[in-house]
Amino acid sequence: MRDLSGHVRDIDGAILGPDGLSELAAIEPSTLPKIPEGTRLGPPVSNVSKIVAIGLNYSDHAREAGMPMPDEPIVFMKAPSSICGPFDKVILPRGSEKSDWEVELGVVIGTRAQYVNPSDAIRYIAGYCVANDISERHFQLERSGQWVKGKSADTFCPFGPWLTTKDEVPDPQYLAIWLELDGNRYQDGNTSTMIFPVTQIVGYLSQFMTLLPGDLILTGTPPGVGFGMKPPIMLKPGNVMRLGIEGLGVIEQEVVAWPD
Ligand code: ZN
Repeated sequence: MRDLSGHVRDIDGAILGPDGLSELAAIEPSTLPKIPEGTRLGPPVSNVSKIVAIGLNYSDHAREAGMPMPDEPIVFMKAPSSICGPFDKVILPRGSEKSDWEVELGVVIGTRAQYVNPSDAIRYIAGYCVANDISERHFQLERSGQWVKGKSADTFCPFGPWLTTKDEVPDPQYLAIWLELDGNRYQDGNTSTMIFPVTQIVGYLSQFMTLLPGDLILTGTPPGVGFGMKPPIMLKPGNVMRLGIEGLGVIEQEVVAWPD
């Protein structure tokens, strides 16, 4: 890992467009200072204006949740304050009874997108990452209303370990995607079973809101979440989640209690 701070103030929407990314790509990595071993990795994109997420986007997960296959994408938001680094601790919020994991392919927007045609959507994407859409099922499903309550606590959106630019990912719809809890593999899917593929999601969302450079889209989770287990498995302090996507790296978080 190398230090880009001599070239950019930060990695955010200002540098994620095609011009910014090709400037970065032109830098010879060996000319950059090395990052000391053990340095904490923060989230790979900063100043994220919004996190938009898609619910039930894997056909096999919709079956597991016992919910009908959606005929249009189910859209919800996560508070941007839920973002944390890829190896930071995940803190169970006060009153948490049913916190759960969801490995997801994260899509980072590079170019302002409004009324985009799906056939053109790839142009608006900067790259991809691994994300954990942590979800408190009691807040999400049993305390009536929007899912946002169960999705937005601090540390509920670890992502990384880095941003993989789209030129490194020839086909985002054919990537192994998995999650292990304490070494046991619970999620073991492939992005090929997404109901709505990445380009269709970007096009669809851009009909309802302007996607800004640096925005993060979570594209849904494959089967194997805790509340789909019989009996359900919920996160406890001390659990370690390890999750990855083929070609995009691996991230890991330990679960801790709210410190009070
Ligand atoms: Zn999710």
